[in-house]
Amino acid sequence: MSEKPRAWRCTVCGYIHAQIEAPDCCPVCGADQADFEPYSPPAPTPPAPFRAQRWQCVICDYFHEGPEPPETCPLCGVNRDQFQPLPEVDPVGTDSGTPAQILIVGCGIAGVSAAETIRRVSPQSSITLVGTEGELPYYRLNLTRYLAGEIPREALPIHPAAWFEDQHIGLIRNVNVDRINAEAHSVTLSNGLELPYDRLILAAGSHAYIPSLEGVHLEGVFTLRTTVDADHLIHRAQAGTRCVCIGGGILGIEIAGALARQKVAVTLLESHAWLMPRQLNLRAAGVLERHLLSLGIQVVKKAQTRALIGETRVSGVALQDGPILPADVVVLATGVRPNTALARKAGLEVNNGVVVDNHLRTSLPDIFAAGDAAEHNGQVYGAWSASQYQGTIAALNAVGIPTAFGGLPRANTVKALGLDLTSIGKFQPEDGSYTVLEQEGTADYITFIFHDSRLAGAILIGHADLAATVKKAIESKTDFSALLQKNPAIPEILAALRPA
Ligand SMILES: Cc1cc2nc3c(=O)[nH]c(=O)nc-3n(C[C@H](O)[C@H](O)[C@H](O)COP(=O)(O)OP(=O)(O)OC[C@H]3O[C@@H](n4cnc5c(N)ncnc54)[C@H](O)[C@@H]3O)c2cc1C
Repeated sequence: MSEKPRAWRCTVCGYIHAQIEAPDCCPVCGADQADFEPYSPPAPTPPAPFRAQRWQCVICDYFHEGPEPPETCPLCGVNRDQFQPLPEVDPVGTDSGTPAQILIVGCGIAGVSAAETIRRVSPQSSITLVGTEGELPYYRLNLTRYLAGEIPREALPIHPAAWFEDQHIGLIRNVNVDRINAEAHSVTLSNGLELPYDRLILAAGSHAYIPSLEGVHLEGVFTLRTTVDADHLIHRAQAGTRCVCIGGGILGIEIAGALARQKVAVTLLESHAWLMPRQLNLRAAGVLERHLLSLGIQVVKKAQTRALIGETRVSGVALQDGPILPADVVVLATGVRPNTALARKAGLEVNNGVVVDNHLRTSLPDIFAAGDAAEHNGQVYGAWSASQYQGTIAALNAVGIPTAFGGLPRANTVKALGLDLTSIGKFQPEDGSYTVLEQEGTADYITFIFHDSRLAGAILIGHADLAATVKKAIESKTDFSALLQKNPAIPEILAALRPA
């Protein structure tokens, strides 16, 4: 006797009814029972074996290419177990791209990773990188470590000059791209030269935002975006110097930590009620603040700066409702803005950043954008790993290898403080439907935020060993419902995350 079917399929609308008997009528389209046929699900096809070729350091976001992660991260020094595999995005080693003349505006990480990718997948393409800065392209995110004296200046370049020659990548430094002549497919440089292109990749990055405050142009007021900024700051902020750092976000905190390490007397101002309000909740920020105090940094919260005081040189910072804080040096860490002037002049669609589609194409033909300058799905990432990744994807598309950018989860790590602090995904519940677990020690803190029994976000302070696993659990939407129903507590979650 043949076995009874275990499921039925509506031949009219395709609805699958997973019961021994077919329904009297289709709940989707209303077709009769007679319109159902026995259905057996196709045998599952085993997933293709996953072979990682790209790895990301969960602590500092450094990308590494190769079948294995490196022994230690060349940026932040953590061990290989802090690297997570990333899905393959490009046909490494193939020559599948269409040879083209590619011009890249901006020699930051987005521009460099675009150049690296084009050379790898399209050896016949010509590549020219043009950048305003005089330096070899460098690890901008390591400027705070340079400021702290943790790494020497020689450790900043991404590649030595010879690498660009070996790779036949033209590197034009100290020159601005003044105009894009979109119809003529060329750009005009600040030295008067005109360079043609088949495809243009805009990787112009961002600049420090300077608030419109009285006194911001006084001598002794700094921002930190470039090596030149860092050198000036190192020159002026010596041991014993009084520095007021305005902005208690990641950059302001890293700058304060770096200067404190150089024995500068630092006061950190944050206008919000707690530090890092875009990444931390109140309790986590309290742990961070205690750590900053232990480094000798004074923290003033709810601080509204009224003006910077001084004749030609800054001598203090006046708060709205408070005293004037004496200062020999003031650092503005009040955010960044994408460099969009060039794109606007060329008539490209610009919102906060240069608007791009899923292939990182701008609104004009043959022009792509990546990195801090680009806005994808309303989001300007302003982060190293996103810039590096977008540079790769813009490059693949520019040489005719269609590749989509699907967005990246938010993850932030603080460096240069001697404190392991990582904030991933949601850091605050949006409403009562979230489950929040917390655990606080004297110098460490964990919070896990669950939604629908899945980990939606976490803050980890003093638990660097957990960052990779937690990030994976968030990205893979791991289901914790059994644990949450039985015993919703941090030690149980940690035990599940750290298998024996
Ligand atoms: C001190 C510091 C610490 C940071 N730490 C972190 C961190 O820990 N983690 C993290 O994720 N991110 C961090 N960031 C942010 C990260 O460095 C940036 O997101 C990343 O560098 C952006 O890369 P990009 O290539 O898009 O742009 P950029 O690095 O800004 O490079 C763009 C380049 O284009 C040039 N350019 C602009 N306009 C033109 C033009 N018209 N013609 C020619 N050249 C032009 C600029 O001069 C610049 O050199 C940090 C940033 C700073 C400043």
